[in-house]
Amino acid sequence: MSIKENLRIISNSIPEKVTLVAVSKTKPNAFIEEAYAAGQRVFGENKVQEMVEKATALPKDIQWHLIGHLQKNKVKYIAPFVSLIHGVDSFSTLKEINKQAKKQDRIIDCLLQAKIATESTKFGLNFEEIESILNSQEFLLLENIKIVGLMGMASFTENQNQVREEFKSLKMFFDKTKLTTLSMGMSGDYKLAIEEGSTMVRVGSAIFGSRL
Ligand SMILES: *Cc1c(COP(=O)(O)O)cnc(C)c1O
Repeated sequence: MSIKENLRIISNSIPEKVTLVAVSKTKPNAFIEEAYAAGQRVFGENKVQEMVEKATALPKDIQWHLIGHLQKNKVKYIAPFVSLIHGVDSFSTLKEINKQAKKQDRIIDCLLQAKIATESTKFGLNFEEIESILNSQEFLLLENIKIVGLMGMASFTENQNQVREEFKSLKMFFDKTKLTTLSMGMSGDYKLAIEEGSTMVRVGSAIFGSRL
């Protein structure tokens, strides 16, 4: 099936209030242009250099989301144009984003990444750490970032019940924070994530085909 057709089917299957981030990592610009021609404007990348190169070459009204782990020393490269940073998992990264956003005279929207998977390899903060960031005095002083929500990745497992429970726990915590964006769900689990309250899904292979 074509990218256009995949996008149509997925867009039609998710509620209008859920934002679809088309994850284009590793895929060539031609694929992104095809999705763009079909009306898609929000794209997600997980590598800073790749995102910078694509943003330079592609239409300026694309909203670029950085979805992967972000190293502090690379924030400066995306600060001029990034639309949303999904994977913030430390206060020091948040401070660096604030510093670089200030240089650009803009406010950068961020999501804190919550650790919900049982695997030890996943990045992220536990709920207590998120609460302490949101409640800290130091956080209030960061005028050039805005934490608009949370992001989470479920365990890489066939066990749908486990994935559902992980999404559920994140949604419950999210509701207490009064934030507005909950980024959870990928190609394999976005329907489940939406059932559990996701407001933003990050879908790659179901749109662009599998990655090698
Ligand atoms: C690659 C990636 C996705 C998309 O994965 P698919 O399974 O291809 O949909 C979503 N979120 C993050 C953080 C990713 O790195």
